[in-house]
Amino acid sequence: MSREARFRLFNTLTGAVEPVIPREPKHLRMYGCGPTVYSYAHIGNFRSFLTADLILRTAQALGWKTTYVSNITDVGHLSTDDTIDPSGEDRMARALRSKEGERFPNVWDLARYYTDAFLQDWDALGLLEPDVRPRAIEHVRELIQAIEELVAAQLAYETSLGVYFSVPGFADYGKLSGNEKASLLRNAARDVVVDTEKRDPRDFALWKKDPHHLMQWHSPWGWGFPGWHIECSVMAQIYLGDEIDLHTGGEDLIFPHHECEIAQAESLTGKPFARHWAHTRFLQVEGRKMSKRFGNFLRVRDLLGSHAAQEKNLALRMALISGQYRKPYNFTRATLRDAGVHIGRFKRARDIIQNATDSQHSGRDNLCDLLRNTYRHALHAMADDLNTPVAIAAALSGTKSILENGYDLSAAAARSAKTFLDQIDALLGVIPQSPAATAEPGESQAASAVGGNGIDVKAVERLIGERRKARARKDYARADALRDEILALGVELHDTPSGPKWRPKTTL
Ligand code: AMP
Ligand code: ZN
Repeated sequence: MSREARFRLFNTLTGAVEPVIPREPKHLRMYGCGPTVYSYAHIGNFRSFLTADLILRTAQALGWKTTYVSNITDVGHLSTDDTIDPSGEDRMARALRSKEGERFPNVWDLARYYTDAFLQDWDALGLLEPDVRPRAIEHVRELIQAIEELVAAQLAYETSLGVYFSVPGFADYGKLSGNEKASLLRNAARDVVVDTEKRDPRDFALWKKDPHHLMQWHSPWGWGFPGWHIECSVMAQIYLGDEIDLHTGGEDLIFPHHECEIAQAESLTGKPFARHWAHTRFLQVEGRKMSKRFGNFLRVRDLLGSHAAQEKNLALRMALISGQYRKPYNFTRATLRDAGVHIGRFKRARDIIQNATDSQHSGRDNLCDLLRNTYRHALHAMADDLNTPVAIAAALSGTKSILENGYDLSAAAARSAKTFLDQIDALLGVIPQSPAATAEPGESQAASAVGGNGIDVKAVERLIGERRKARARKDYARADALRDEILALGVELHDTPSGPKWRPKTTL
């Protein structure tokens, strides 16, 4: 690979591993489908969200700017039983009727509760915060407007049950999934409404009329609720523009969800919607599809420690990213145990460094070169279609070298070891933080590594503070401008669940 590292990912749209080429050089604008909040998230859901997280981290490690939008689907959508149950009760309504749902007075509270639970899991697993996390129920007005535009352009039509996108009007339908046959498309459940007035069996719902639905809004077509697909394409375009660089989700979303997103978005704008599509292969547990029926259904919170149990949470994160996102992945208790052992090694290395930065030892400085090369190897592996097994092996091999040197580390070697662990952490998010680094969110954890490299620490800290305030008041344009100013000071900036962290810029 040349010094100018390329970021290559499999693109479902073309069926090949291709360079990721953002429309604006070195600025990745990415949309990731978020959860439907009718229950607690399971580890399969998070395997998909972690793929998006690793894409972001890799892009940032390559020195790119990132803008990441990931939604919360808090409108109930039709469940897979719809073909059997044409009355079309959605997942949220069904959850409210279930045993677990008894404690919620209404469906809005249920959605709020599971959204909060999801965000706690997100935080515990150390995923980077999206720049925007739009919620469907806050965007219904824009969804209605988009549907009106499609109707006006005669790409959608109304029946007595709802409003449908007219698939024959969009010639490229099927280009993502390769599914063109009506029979296949008819069998795609989850949003299929049985409506004899549909003009083509492939047509899909943009709006469902239902004055009795638990969540309903007034629209030009009466009371009802929006379809699921329109939610993502509209919110992606509101926050990222008509054409986005990369779109992620689990493999089940290729069809119909993402195929339908493309049809709606491209019909509305006449422009290609997403350049690159990255899909995560489904996770299995103990060799079988994860299912309550098989007793192998694992919710994230079943495997997390308490919030303070950082190492246990990191072990789960490590286990979930240990298989490359495109390969079949079998989660087992043994994988989780092994991941725990690895996290323990990272922690020991952190502890050694903590005690070694004042070391009087000299010599053994060949560690600096070795660790620099090992990090490069890890970054190259991640830039090569997120090859996490190779990147993790590099992280472990560098850590082994640190541990072998033990307390004999010279101060210079200790500094490179610290840089190595910080870089690996920014890339993979699996290194336990020393208490000093986590105590003050937003404070520079890198100050000690900065000395002597000409970085104006005070200016960085001040701008980070200003940017945090701009984000809090949702002034994203100002926050973006501040981010550019911060980067211009020669540092890398990473938004972590415990606040922004920075360090001197590294180059490959
Ligand atoms: P949902 O809440 O069902 O919309 O799913 C949220 C995300 O999790 C989507 O991107 C799904 O594709 C993904 N997902 C669901 N089950 C699995 C699984 N077993 N393995 C990987 N990803 C999954
Ligand atoms: Zn989506």
